Amino acid sequence: MVPDIVARTYLMEQTMVAHRNLRIAVIGAGASGILAVIKLRAAGIDDVTVFEKASELGGTWRDNRSPGLTCDVPSHLYRYSFEPNPDWTHVCSPGPEILAYLKSVAAKHDVERSIRYGNEVTRAEFIKGRWHVDTVQGSQGVFDVVLTAVGVLHHPVYPDIAGLDTFEGASFHTSRWDHSVALEGKRVGIIGTGSTATQIVGGIIDDVAKLILFQRTAQWIMPVPNPAYSDEQKAAFREDAGLIEAEYARLAVEFNSKFAAAVVGANPAHYEVMSQLCQDNLRDSVADPELRAKLTPNYKVGCKRLIMSDQFYSAIQRPHAELVTDGIARIEATGIRTVDGRLHELDVLVFATGFDTHRFVRPMNVIGRDGRRLDDAWAHANEGYLGITIPGFPNWFMLGGPNSPIGNFSWLMTSENQLNYAMKLIDYVRSGNVTEIAPKPSAVRAFNDAVKAKMPDTIWATGCNSWYIDKNGNVASWPWTYEKFQDDMREPIIDDFEIA
Ligand code: NAP
Repeated sequence: MVPDIVARTYLMEQTMVAHRNLRIAVIGAGASGILAVIKLRAAGIDDVTVFEKASELGGTWRDNRSPGLTCDVPSHLYRYSFEPNPDWTHVCSPGPEILAYLKSVAAKHDVERSIRYGNEVTRAEFIKGRWHVDTVQGSQGVFDVVLTAVGVLHHPVYPDIAGLDTFEGASFHTSRWDHSVALEGKRVGIIGTGSTATQIVGGIIDDVAKLILFQRTAQWIMPVPNPAYSDEQKAAFREDAGLIEAEYARLAVEFNSKFAAAVVGANPAHYEVMSQLCQDNLRDSVADPELRAKLTPNYKVGCKRLIMSDQFYSAIQRPHAELVTDGIARIEATGIRTVDGRLHELDVLVFATGFDTHRFVRPMNVIGRDGRRLDDAWAHANEGYLGITIPGFPNWFMLGGPNSPIGNFSWLMTSENQLNYAMKLIDYVRSGNVTEIAPKPSAVRAFNDAVKAKMPDTIWATGCNSWYIDKNGNVASWPWTYEKFQDDMREPIIDDFEIA
């Protein structure tokens, strides 16, 4: 190891001069993977290979195509900073529009020439300063740097319910929506009441003969209208990029300084506003006291991912909709039997049961320095440093690793900040004088201790079950504000890294 002070001085002198042509492997061709290719190439790194398990790019927006799917982050924040889009149709745009945006940006920057589709990475091992990468198609050779861009919402969870395979109608997970199944005139059951399920309820209620929503836990619903941008507004955005930036700035205040700050305890006044809005929404929108009681959560607003919808309550009160809160006893050939003995007959069954958000790159077998397996390193907790690096896994950078802001900020803005930070570390490797860079265990400990100490201030830690919390009770998100995130991403603290 190079002593810190020497390393720092030396690195500073070297960063402006690129001596090595790096080979970089990017894992995943979703929003973050597309971003990585564009920014790495712009920095003059052209030897970039993206390994993508599917046959199409787009990540979560490729996989999730359920009816009604709409991003709950405003579109002018949910974009790459270098590709503002004047043509977003709504403040929060539908899923297909976001996929189209990602595809158009990728096409404009010729990203696909770097992608190897049908290449799920199965193994990566760090040997003598380089990563040896295998995919389902065999060895892919050796890389200086690996950047993971695998997203968070990509391992669907199916419910552990008896008789799951006995249902004779059509059934599928929301992220594997079977568009060959017509819903018109059908009796459709949905298990789950997260963001996905509630959007589907609004998305299909007009088509189906009967909709039954099986709710295990009630959700708070924030009544957020989703206005369309008028043709005049879009034309103005096209003519004057300054107007897009003004819209961005307006939405950033609403989203980052109000909502995102409120959920981490940094804007209590706005938290009260949000909380009151949700309570008023329930009281004012649901007339029947029995239904209202069923829809009333027993935890604080925002503890689970807050649902933004101005459609759900009206949809669930339609005469052909039913909210079932009795537990599910089993799934049978013709429907779902609840614990009260009632059989709810169904033609189609939708599992809106979410994702395993704590697997990150796994089941990939990642082996770092000295043969250390990531599975072992993360056996008790997924611990990294600032969501990007892992001790003992040099030159391995994650976009969206543990304790990244998964529930509070725009994913695209998060990725861009993290990539800028990672590229500063990659620059050291590129200088030719550094072959390995990984965070010091002491820095990682300090970061994770700080996360743990701050987490009780957040709304996620106030006593509910959610996909933010792992099996050991650790909350997996970023417990600080967006402003702190930006500050932390601005420049790596090089003393926090081991350099060889
Ligand atoms: P989710 O929030 O994890 O919700 C899963 C639902 O399934 C919960 O209601 C859960 O109940 C229920 N469930 C799980 N297993 C069950 C079982 N065995 N029996 C009965 N119910 C069961 O998943 P999601 O709705 O797919 O949303 C995940 C995240 O994706 C969102 O929070 C959001 O970040 C993102 N998303 C965003 C958008 C958007 O931008 N608008 C749209 C869709 C998704 P419990 O609550 O009791 O566990």
